Amino acid sequence: MKKINKLLVANRSEIAIRVFRSAHELGIRTVAIYAHEDRYALHRFKADEAYQIGKPGEPIRSYLNIAEIIAIAKQHEVDGIHPGYGFLSENPELARACHKSGIIFVGPHDEALEKLGDKTFARNIAQQVNVPVLSGSDAIPNAQDGLKKATKMGFPIILKAAHGGGGRGMRVVLKESEFVGAFESAQRESMSAFGSPDVFIEKYITSASHIEVQLLGDKHGNLLHLYERDCSVQRRHQKVVEIAPAPLLDPKVRQELCDAAVKIGKAVRYENAGTVEFLVDRDTNQFYFIEVNPRIQVEHTVTEEVTGIDIVKSQLLIAQGMLLSDPEIGLPSQEGVKCNGFAIQCRVTTEDPGNNFMPDYGRIAHYRSAAGMGIRLDAGSAFSGATVNPFYDSLLVKVSARGRRFVDAARRMERCLQEFRIRGVKTNIPFLIQLITHPTFLAGTCTTRFIDQTPDLFH
Ligand code: ADP
Repeated sequence: MKKINKLLVANRSEIAIRVFRSAHELGIRTVAIYAHEDRYALHRFKADEAYQIGKPGEPIRSYLNIAEIIAIAKQHEVDGIHPGYGFLSENPELARACHKSGIIFVGPHDEALEKLGDKTFARNIAQQVNVPVLSGSDAIPNAQDGLKKATKMGFPIILKAAHGGGGRGMRVVLKESEFVGAFESAQRESMSAFGSPDVFIEKYITSASHIEVQLLGDKHGNLLHLYERDCSVQRRHQKVVEIAPAPLLDPKVRQELCDAAVKIGKAVRYENAGTVEFLVDRDTNQFYFIEVNPRIQVEHTVTEEVTGIDIVKSQLLIAQGMLLSDPEIGLPSQEGVKCNGFAIQCRVTTEDPGNNFMPDYGRIAHYRSAAGMGIRLDAGSAFSGATVNPFYDSLLVKVSARGRRFVDAARRMERCLQEFRIRGVKTNIPFLIQLITHPTFLAGTCTTRFIDQTPDLFH
């Protein structure tokens, strides 16, 4: 086993702090990097050491500069890098640069990142191991070709950026006449967001649950799942609320989904933490693979709450070569993974629900947090006097609520959201309260279109 003594997190805000916490518990010294625009951000102060990266005026690009990250790491004798989510987390170049410099990359090997980063490639892997995928295409060369394929497949279809994420580069196309315009705008968005114009087609499911399975694999070929999350509550294809386990999932479908995820993981010799995403057609209960996220996800907390497994700590130990069965990780077998009760996570953001979810900025004049039994908070710079700046995503604090039954977790979440007092910036808390007290949510029957189809959530 090669030990990590000093870990740099190539990320910011809540996920950087989340990783520092587990590293600290393992006795690993922590290093933060921060852009000039983040010089007052909390993650900087939560690490043992912190170094500025990039130049003023480059709030995002600073976190994407692989050469500079590696240079800082070498200069300060860093021997492990955790990429968090977003930024460089799925970029095989960072993984390769780490290997070249003798630094442990906390994530899957670069070949898995390479393969899974292309959604059309990932679809092909799923097909090879007999996991159902939606009828679809590889990257489409031009609009006319795409239109032919879409017409053959039958509308509605969804256009997706092959290298996309975060719901961007995606367009639902309901009928033939809308295809060309949607294709061109998806291509444009994909090019500007991901640097690749590759767009492909998939059959669109009108009534779907988004269910995803958490995987953990070690470097010795052992791989298991930590059950599933239901992330159907979405706005513009982006997750808003996540639940573990999925409240109404048929036990037989659950088993099949978890088995399918492990099969896909084994097919690419997956190691470290990753998530296999599926859509379940609510009308038929049939499930379909959509993609693999080869990194820690925002919503990993709910799985941690119900399984008691610290996924980030496991990531750090796996990266050092530890077996899943080692008592420090504590996962000798699939049967040993137990799921207790329910957990719900809400993403509290500084978006204004009264103004079409426009991000709000400024100084947080007053911040009083919620607390109490069964509540977990993962925050970045969320405190009185902190400044929310316009350069980064608007996530303020992730709130997880645990309960014996789904309804207990939902009631606890409502109580907790009511307890927050945040002044100076607008937040989406009023919207989240409407959402998690809605009868459809409490019945566990939200589909991915629930928010869009429920205008009474906005009052
Ligand atoms: P991203 O990588 O941008 O998150 P995904 O492929 O994971 O994109 O899809 C995000 C969301 O978009 C899904 O959770 C679902 O709500 C919707 N979606 C994706 N593919 C389909 C589809 N074929 N039919 C219906 N909805 C879809």
